[in-house]
Amino acid sequence: MDCRSFSDGRPGLPSSRRLSEHDGMTNLASLIAQLSLEEKASLVNGNGMWTVPGVERLGIPSLTVTDGPNGARGGGLLGSGIPGLCIPCGSALGATWNPELIERLGVALGQESHTKASHVLLAPTINIHRSPLGGRNFECMSEDPLLTGKLAAAFIRGVQSQGVGCTPKHFAGNDAEFERNTIDSVIDERALREIYLLPFEIAVKEGGAWGLMAAYNRLNGTFCCEHPWLLETVLREEWGFDGVVVTDWLASRSTADSANAGLDLEMPGPGRMWGTGKLEDAVRQGEVSQVRLDTMVERMLRLMQRTRAFDEPLAHKEESIDLPEHRALAREAASESMVLLENDGLLPLAPQQLKRLAVIGPNANRAQIMGGGSANLRAFHYTTPLDGLRERLGDVVEIVYERGCDIERTAPPLRGPIAVKFFDGHEPGGPVIATREYERGKVMLFGGLDEARVPGEYSMQARLELVPEESGTHQLSLVVTSWTRVIIDGDIAIDAWRPGIERGKEMFGLGSIELVADLELREGQPVEILIESSSRDAIIITGFQLGCRPPPRDDLIDSAVRAAESADAVVLVVGTNDDWETEGRDRESMDLPGRSDELIRRVIEANSRTAVVVNAGSPVTMPWADDAGAILNVWFGGQEMAPALADVLLGEISPSGKLPTTFPERLEHNPSYVNFPGENSELRYG
Ligand code: BGC
Repeated sequence: MDCRSFSDGRPGLPSSRRLSEHDGMTNLASLIAQLSLEEKASLVNGNGMWTVPGVERLGIPSLTVTDGPNGARGGGLLGSGIPGLCIPCGSALGATWNPELIERLGVALGQESHTKASHVLLAPTINIHRSPLGGRNFECMSEDPLLTGKLAAAFIRGVQSQGVGCTPKHFAGNDAEFERNTIDSVIDERALREIYLLPFEIAVKEGGAWGLMAAYNRLNGTFCCEHPWLLETVLREEWGFDGVVVTDWLASRSTADSANAGLDLEMPGPGRMWGTGKLEDAVRQGEVSQVRLDTMVERMLRLMQRTRAFDEPLAHKEESIDLPEHRALAREAASESMVLLENDGLLPLAPQQLKRLAVIGPNANRAQIMGGGSANLRAFHYTTPLDGLRERLGDVVEIVYERGCDIERTAPPLRGPIAVKFFDGHEPGGPVIATREYERGKVMLFGGLDEARVPGEYSMQARLELVPEESGTHQLSLVVTSWTRVIIDGDIAIDAWRPGIERGKEMFGLGSIELVADLELREGQPVEILIESSSRDAIIITGFQLGCRPPPRDDLIDSAVRAAESADAVVLVVGTNDDWETEGRDRESMDLPGRSDELIRRVIEANSRTAVVVNAGSPVTMPWADDAGAILNVWFGGQEMAPALADVLLGEISPSGKLPTTFPERLEHNPSYVNFPGENSELRYG
């Protein structure tokens, strides 16, 4: 994780991946002619989560892809990967209104994709902010299709200039998460073309995207992955797209229909619809023509050419290369995205006039730099707004901190790192076949474990130490997707080692409800927790989320008020988090969570020199807006959010961001209000 430049002077581009002119010469037709039916089918099917296998005998390389829109995560999923650059979230990028800046960020992410040994970045997310409640709004850029399209095109040009492909996603009408795998988005053609397709059209025509990701949902009755009008008529015939259409992960529903509709690649693999001989059978039976399969293969080979995969197979391991110029760029983007919604002359803060500054709020001492789901990655660093201000002002101003209120939705996963040991078979025990380290108590494995004798049959065990920060009744919380049990001092504290646990909304909607157990703990006295989990009965994901709630406190707001009264000014950092704003679930309300609004009102009453910093990926209601001394919207600002916030609060940089999306005063003011989240399996875009 050192901070350095590459020695060949090309930051982010390891020498094994230098671009050359050679690939363009590869003769695709002659390669296709030499491929067997099985080899062709293998080239349009994944092999594991992120890789498409090559054909060694013909020198066809394998191709690797990685998520996503605010950073190249690499192979590790949701917290298990190695650190990478985390740029501001999509709505923050939208607020910059600055394609030139976004293109430079794209270049950096292209370089990051190289370090994560990937040919394709699964980004940008360019669905529309249709409702403020859309769970993935933070990933998307705007309610405005033109702004979204222009920024997407710039992003793609930047990434692809580094020889890394993009897959703008999710095509199309995937603007909310409710029943996300099946919902039918019913959209009139004019609205569809003018609003929801336009960003994709610009991404294709002006960005020159080499790929595109077809969405989970249905569009006007037909699943997007098998939608000939969408994938052929509009995308290829009208817009001239010549790249690869990949499924969203596990989105495909059919073998022949999807192939004939214009889909080119099923992921992950082996594909449920095209893998294990299914596509070959469909060709043998004449349901899918040879010509169609050849076309799919040709597009895949062209993607390999474009990403220089033929010349430079990505044999190197994933790396974390933390470049000072990338940090500077992410910081520039974070500060450019900040929107000053209100200022009664309070900002900028003048340190020489401050003796004591109160930094308050549920997000003040937490680095809420990105939203949840597949866009989440392990950032190079996590700096909290409190630490950012301490670093800048700590020597000259006394800084007092109060949390003010809690906003957790489910108990926050225990902090890691957590070492997980894997075993063959459904019962943990015997030789360890693999170990992996996770950043926190959230462990998810998609599909099989390669190291297991039978990849779908494995189990795992992790030991972690919980050191309580307070004494009292803590609540241990467990969400599972497969058989799991938590053992403390030899006793089973939470037992989910059985089938039939009630489903909840966590973990992409595949997790159970929260299972809880009370624990009497003493401050500073560690407890050892053993957690065992098995792939038995897992649906898609094997894993768990283990968290702990500290004893509830009802004096948080009072303490915050006292701190505000005693200070010359207050920075009050409120917002949501990656559990409220995440892939897999829409928000239910536009209000700030917990007692945030009450906290804000009471702090403003106590000290009118209060700057409210809103740290959320989407609009929130602000019933206190007229009374705040200043309101600064900072989104989920990426790894450099905290230093950028200090830059802006202290007036070193002007907050030049502008809202890319209307912030309704109340949810009812949003035009989608009466048509959200949909009913009877349909979401009518009224
Ligand atoms: C998401 C995609 C993502 C893919 C791979 C899906 O759940 O919808 O945006 O690229 O997973 O992680």
